[in-house]
Amino acid sequence: MSAVIYPTTNLSATEQLLFERGEGIYVYDQSGKQYLEGLAGLWCTGLGYGNRELIDTISSQLATLSFSHTFGGKSHQPVIDLADKLAGMVPVDKAMVFFGNSGSDANDTHIKLLRYYFNAIGKPEKRKIITRERAYHGVTVAAGSLTSLPANLAHFDAPLDALGILRTDHPHYYRGAKPGESEADFVARITANLEQLILSEGPDTIAAFIAEPITGASGVIVPPAGYYEAVQAILEKHDILFWADEVITGFGRTGKLFGCETVNIQKPAMMTFAKQLSSAYYPISASVIRGDLYEPMISASNEVGVFGHGFTYSGHPVACAAALKTLEIYERDGLYANAASVGEYLQSRLQEFADMESVGEVRGAGLLAAVELVSNRDDRTPDVDLAKRATLACQENGLIVRNVAGNALAVCPPLIITREQVDEMVDKLRRSLEQAL
Ligand code: PLP
Repeated sequence: MSAVIYPTTNLSATEQLLFERGEGIYVYDQSGKQYLEGLAGLWCTGLGYGNRELIDTISSQLATLSFSHTFGGKSHQPVIDLADKLAGMVPVDKAMVFFGNSGSDANDTHIKLLRYYFNAIGKPEKRKIITRERAYHGVTVAAGSLTSLPANLAHFDAPLDALGILRTDHPHYYRGAKPGESEADFVARITANLEQLILSEGPDTIAAFIAEPITGASGVIVPPAGYYEAVQAILEKHDILFWADEVITGFGRTGKLFGCETVNIQKPAMMTFAKQLSSAYYPISASVIRGDLYEPMISASNEVGVFGHGFTYSGHPVACAAALKTLEIYERDGLYANAASVGEYLQSRLQEFADMESVGEVRGAGLLAAVELVSNRDDRTPDVDLAKRATLACQENGLIVRNVAGNALAVCPPLIITREQVDEMVDKLRRSLEQAL
């Protein structure tokens, strides 16, 4: 056993698989065996592996200015260009951008920005945050408290009570609906629960509602039509900010530039980005907020003398250069359009699985999808063992997928994937599933 403490791993497990190199949408292990990276690493390598142009940009930035912090207004061109670029892309009015290193720390930053803002405008009691069951927003003490997956909470004494985290229903119709309930009735019921929660806690105590537009890590869940329209109407009525966590869904993943567009979320007040922002070639995250939330923070920082939040690597020049080049390549090479058209093809091919006796639901959008496995289609009993066996069979057949929510297989290939490669992926998935039955 090596000295590595492996993240999100059963600690009694030893090394499972040692990867050595990657090229395009494929990775290779130490024995030279090829795997189609059906999960883009961990939902992040949009450009796949070995992108020469991006590697050259990173090397050149390393050679020019390998580090510069951004405390106290010390700056450099890549951080300014990246902030302006993002501000011009997002559906957030007069967006301002704070850079970090991971999706988790970007969500922590947002929690602190919310406090700073509401303290600045004289509403210190407006600080609770509504998250949803099954949410995944990271693992730091604060962002981990927004996450609702049992494994991320158990034994960590999480969530941290002092944060005032509230939980509401997850919009998964297949699992959450009552027998005979229509999608519209399901949406009406769970959004009525949301409003009830807001009223019982007191709207003046609630700062924001956070959601992954399409839920990723806990099973790729696409909400029913009308869900976000209803949520946003309730939040607006009670003066609660909408916070979109686009760490997985950002940058073309769901077939549109942002997941918000795919599921009809209008003008979020805050957005979180990481992962595909730099195609995972260099760690970087971004916390984006509406300009009118930022304004009062300026005078609050005047009072203290400094806005006392920042990481050594906030706005790291190499990370910013990597992200700028990544966004340029996504745009120039038509990869958002590719994700939309090849994504549509992927979804249609995966629907071929819907008739299988062991498949309960096939769902997704763009190049993000999941196949949920059940041992009984009538009562929808989750088949966790089949999902484990199928994930291993995929690996044996040279395909990486992720077992999520216990009984679902998720795919999320690099945005550069072609139709032919989708065929290869889906064929391998079918063969593996059949072998695992
Ligand atoms: N938010 C969402 C929606 C995520 O899916 C993730 C990671 O998967 C995070 C936040 C946390 O990001 P990181 O692992 O970079 O801290």
